[in-house]
Amino acid sequence: KGFKVVVLESAKVGFGATGRNGGQIVNSYSRDVDVIESRYDQNQAKALCDMIFEGGDIIRGLIDKYDINCDYKQGGLFTALNSKQLKGLEEHKKNWERYGNDQLTLLDAGEVEQAVGTKVYTGGLLDMRGGHIHPLKLALGEAAAFTSLGGQIFEQSAVVSIDKGINPVVKTAQGSVKSKYVVLAGNAYLGGLAPNISNKAIPCGTQVVATQPLSDEQLKQVLTSDYCVEDCNYLLDYFRLTADKRLLFGGGVVYGARDPENIESLIRPKMEKVFPQLKGIKIDYTWTGNFLLTYSRMPQFGSFADNIYYLQGYSGHGVTCTHLAGKLLA
Ligand SMILES: Cc1cc2nc3c(=O)[nH]c(=O)nc-3n(C[C@H](O)[C@H](O)[C@H](O)COP(=O)(O)OP(=O)(O)OC[C@H]3O[C@@H](n4cnc5c(N)ncnc54)[C@H](O)[C@@H]3O)c2cc1C
Repeated sequence: KGFKVVVLESAKVGFGATGRNGGQIVNSYSRDVDVIESRYDQNQAKALCDMIFEGGDIIRGLIDKYDINCDYKQGGLFTALNSKQLKGLEEHKKNWERYGNDQLTLLDAGEVEQAVGTKVYTGGLLDMRGGHIHPLKLALGEAAAFTSLGGQIFEQSAVVSIDKGINPVVKTAQGSVKSKYVVLAGNAYLGGLAPNISNKAIPCGTQVVATQPLSDEQLKQVLTSDYCVEDCNYLLDYFRLTADKRLLFGGGVVYGARDPENIESLIRPKMEKVFPQLKGIKIDYTWTGNFLLTYSRMPQFGSFADNIYYLQGYSGHGVTCTHLAGKLLA
């Protein structure tokens, strides 16, 4: 758009949730069509819902345009643990179809078992407009695309204060940037920089483990479809295979984003409940990351002081929605 853009990052590109998330390209927001339609007026609801598949399309477009190798795989599966959740998925399918997604298929328990390798689910909804990526590779690929277009990134450059005005000045310990516009996108890691926006939402932690690479025998029993999966519980399990054939399994939420002491002991029981055939498998990596939960569970995009914008609060649903946010902001 002709802007000269500088990114100030307190750690490294991808340090936040963007580089360490579950990698699931899940369409829509953290609240879905039915809630949006009941909560907002007709025009607002339509505008919001018309955009619910854009984030995923933007990701695929960037991967193609900038040749980003981030292990993209097509297909995301929402799984139901009981008949009430399955009924919810049937409704969900109808709602998404009204907004143009014609790549949805309901699966019965047997079909889910075949795709995922577990008997715990009563059925599922497959979205072939969803899928998964290696999130850090995507973030680094996008950063490279950004710098190739003339953007500048300064790492280890935490913003410590902002002087508001016609040309706001953003300060770090080592220097400052004078600009026309400022965009705050620190999300759950923003800390106390702008209390007026951090007071609007709650940082939460969620934890992930990656097993050792699965054997050929295990790969015949686990996720033969290579879809990513998330269940329908409020505190949901989410998992997928990585390109090097590990099971990456996430779950759990810690309100207030404290780091749990033992991630493996939190996640292993959930993982082994879904995949008893992997009981005792070695876990090579564990990590935690913070996302920002809003009270409405809708993202918060806005501005203050005329020229300071903020984009935050994807409520655990940010892989696609951050991409939509960038387009809206531009
Ligand atoms: C473990 C985990 C799993 C998840 N899984 C999924 C998933 O599978 N699918 C999905 O859709 N969503 C998922 N999410 C949510 C998703 O990752 C986030 O919504 C999204 O990445 C948020 O992106 P962001 O750019 O707003 O924030 P972040 O990626 O957190 O980036 C914020 C950046 O701002 C920097 N920063 C903060 N303050 C300052 C400052 N003062 N100065 C300079 N820099 C600063 C931080 O260092 C950080 O790098 C998950 C989140 C976590 C934590």
